[in-house]
Amino acid sequence: MDRPRFMVMTYPAQGQINPSLQFAKRLATVGADVTFVLPLSAYSRMSKCSEPVTQNGSAMSFAPFSIDGYDDGFKRGGDMNHYRSEMRRCGSQTITDLVVSGQNDGRPYCCFVYTLLLTWAGSAAAELGIPSVLLWIQPATVFDVYYFFFNGYADIIKETMSKRQSPTKTTLPGLSLEFGRRELPSFMDVEDAYSFFLPQFEEQFEMVSKQNHQRSVLVNTFDELEAEALRAVSDLNLIGIGPLIPSAFSDENDPSDKSFGGDIFRGSEDNKGTSIFQWLNSKPKTTVVYVSFGSILDLSKQQMEEIAKGLLSFGRTFLWVIREKSEKVENHKDCDDDNDELVSCREELEKLGMIVPWCSQMEVLSNESIGCFVTHCGWNSTLESLASGVPMVAFPRWSDQGTNAKLIEEEWKIGVRVKPNEDEIVDSEEIRRCLELVMGKENEEMRRNGKKWKELAKGAVKEGGSSDKNLKSFVAEMNNYI
Ligand code: UDP
Repeated sequence: MDRPRFMVMTYPAQGQINPSLQFAKRLATVGADVTFVLPLSAYSRMSKCSEPVTQNGSAMSFAPFSIDGYDDGFKRGGDMNHYRSEMRRCGSQTITDLVVSGQNDGRPYCCFVYTLLLTWAGSAAAELGIPSVLLWIQPATVFDVYYFFFNGYADIIKETMSKRQSPTKTTLPGLSLEFGRRELPSFMDVEDAYSFFLPQFEEQFEMVSKQNHQRSVLVNTFDELEAEALRAVSDLNLIGIGPLIPSAFSDENDPSDKSFGGDIFRGSEDNKGTSIFQWLNSKPKTTVVYVSFGSILDLSKQQMEEIAKGLLSFGRTFLWVIREKSEKVENHKDCDDDNDELVSCREELEKLGMIVPWCSQMEVLSNESIGCFVTHCGWNSTLESLASGVPMVAFPRWSDQGTNAKLIEEEWKIGVRVKPNEDEIVDSEEIRRCLELVMGKENEEMRRNGKKWKELAKGAVKEGGSSDKNLKSFVAEMNNYI
């Protein structure tokens, strides 16, 4: 029988490209042929992806598509609505062309998998008769919270979010955790500057419930990590297939597969890439603090200065990623200042640590010198830290990050959350306090848990592990469907 043929499409943000590219590779590893669809702007900046990848006889190829006027990507200050509508127009055409040529060649696609903000792509594939399945790139717990928000719990959640003075907690079906205001996805807060994203999530959830013939959702998590959350929504089938991280750090089938290969910011790291690892290798085990806020978030100058002061007063070696402004694609800003230099005491900082514009994060986290990760709790960063056994100082700002931070501290017990002051700034003293907790002698429990999660994460994706089995049965089921 022919190998099943999948199409995987990603939104061109780093936090979406990384897991979806790993997912595509994983599909190829378990015997499917995969076409990976993405805008040309993202494809042309990726480091290792120009050639098709062949694994066990099955093949993964790339289908980059041009978006009129945006082949260099979306630029700061541009018209996001126009960009999105052009992406939709050009992307829908690409999906149609691929589906038609697959049928004409006698190699039809059996399934279309897509990430967040691409609901239109899922609809386009479904209209062409291809089952479309969402790859959810946040935790299952966050999926559940959104699901319940759109299915009867919006008022309760909004009530919790509005109580700034006398805090209350929200409880939701099937979840034992209770959620306070800062622990719910920030887009649900009507006062949040980014609440305009909420209708897009709503549209996505409506589609998942309506169009998906099996009502399946693939989730970048694993059964052992979120057993309860994967079952909390009884009328959908949430399938844990993660953690979606490079093979060298997960199933270990390909030791050379160390970086995501989809780094659209990678150019800025290249000349420093080698020296980062030489430098880290010269440091004793678990002594270096790694600081990074992902690929989107911009912190205010005031917040950056507090982090700098906190690191200096803590006094241990650090590696801090401060992205260059020109590299930013689409960003969340804590404030509008646009200063060229975000930290004033750079010279002093560089006596103690290293500042880089980008790094191969998974390789950094798995370096033995790393003792702690100060993270914005983006879901990829969180999973990558868990899978490397590195305890975290959880420094969430928006979207799912507050929920992820709660899970890190309360559920998985592998980190502590910072407490912002009344002005929503995390001051240097607080940063130092958290670093002392995570890097200090009392962190035994976090280190123990780190080891545990690292083992469990690898176990899940190895042959016969929960995610491996889940993925194989999903592929078999989709293949039967055709
Ligand atoms: N990343 C990286 N190098 C960096 C910073 C980030 O490789 O210097 C990667 C990181 O490994 C992760 C992704 O970029 O896979 C960021 O995704 P995440 O969900 O953590 O945050 P987002 O950027 O979406 O806010």
